[in-house]
Amino acid sequence: MKQSVEKERVPGGASSAVHPVSAALLRWYDAHGRELPWRGTRAPYAIWLSEVILQQTRIEQGCPYWERFMAHYPTVEALAAATEDQVLRLWQGLGYYSRGRNLLVAARQVVAQGGFPRTVAGLKALKGVGDYTAAAIASMAFDVPVAVVDGNVYRVLARHQGIDTPIDSTQGKHLFAALAQEWLPPSQPAAFNQAMMDFGATWCTPRAPRCTDCPIADTCVARHEGTIASLPVKAGKTRVRTRQFHYVYVRCGTATALRRRPAGDIWQGLWEPLLVEGDRALLQQAVRSIAGKGNAQLVLLRQGVRHVLTHQLIVAHFHLLDCGSFTPQLPSGYQWVEEADLDRHAKPRLVERLLALLPR
Ligand code: SF4
Repeated sequence: MKQSVEKERVPGGASSAVHPVSAALLRWYDAHGRELPWRGTRAPYAIWLSEVILQQTRIEQGCPYWERFMAHYPTVEALAAATEDQVLRLWQGLGYYSRGRNLLVAARQVVAQGGFPRTVAGLKALKGVGDYTAAAIASMAFDVPVAVVDGNVYRVLARHQGIDTPIDSTQGKHLFAALAQEWLPPSQPAAFNQAMMDFGATWCTPRAPRCTDCPIADTCVARHEGTIASLPVKAGKTRVRTRQFHYVYVRCGTATALRRRPAGDIWQGLWEPLLVEGDRALLQQAVRSIAGKGNAQLVLLRQGVRHVLTHQLIVAHFHLLDCGSFTPQLPSGYQWVEEADLDRHAKPRLVERLLALLPR
């Protein structure tokens, strides 16, 4: 269902067409918008940081991270001067660590060019900044009239307009982006984008939308046609790959073996104990080759720990190999680290779970 467009007065005296649905959502936002720590700011650094942290992260989980980053690195210059290890250490627990690495690269890009770019195209040239993040920063920091389209916006548009074109198809992406842009009042891009995202996140929610007190219910196609539960439509089901990880915590006196995870796989740059990926035969072979004729015993601490990622399911098995005073030959890439220094190394959450099981 298409809405008519009416004329409204906008600040500054100019006349601009404001979609009636947009006007209703802006009024709703005034009364019900979320209180978020970065809402009062127009600073591109604070906005960019919040957007990167909140990608694939719930807002309750992301807020403390944003506050911690702002406290450690109050400016983009301060962040750019950090090391990758320091940033990953602060990022630890958020997952999707490439975001943390990209954050640092982008901060250095910004500093090198003397400040944040003020256009969508300029922002998209920063590492890790895609269409969504660029639109969010451009509209909220610089008032560029560009609509953001995130999962919440897809849901509101699909339901209100009764659109069943898959949101993950090329056609769907173009269609929804054009529709969001059509609704965007050019004079209020920041407020409107925040209104759409907040409305989707708190009112038009996936499972329990508040249709009875919804400000745009009268014109909501999905409500009239009874299709709320089936919208929006997603076409592709992502195939999930299952991997078996045997983590062996090798203890040698007061030291343990760690390596930094290599490029081209999950958790790049984070630290982990000896990893054997595959079945138990591979594990035994690896243990034999490092322990040799020593009498170190492999102890199973826990098996079958499931760790779910977007496209992978890791089934992990945790082991301890206590070598006592015998120093085994480590496979290439691993190094000895004093156990007292473990906290200084950024690690995946799965490894933290192993560390919590270790006998002291
Ligand atoms: S009526 Fe319900 S489904 Fe439609 S926009 Fe409002 S909250 Fe969403």
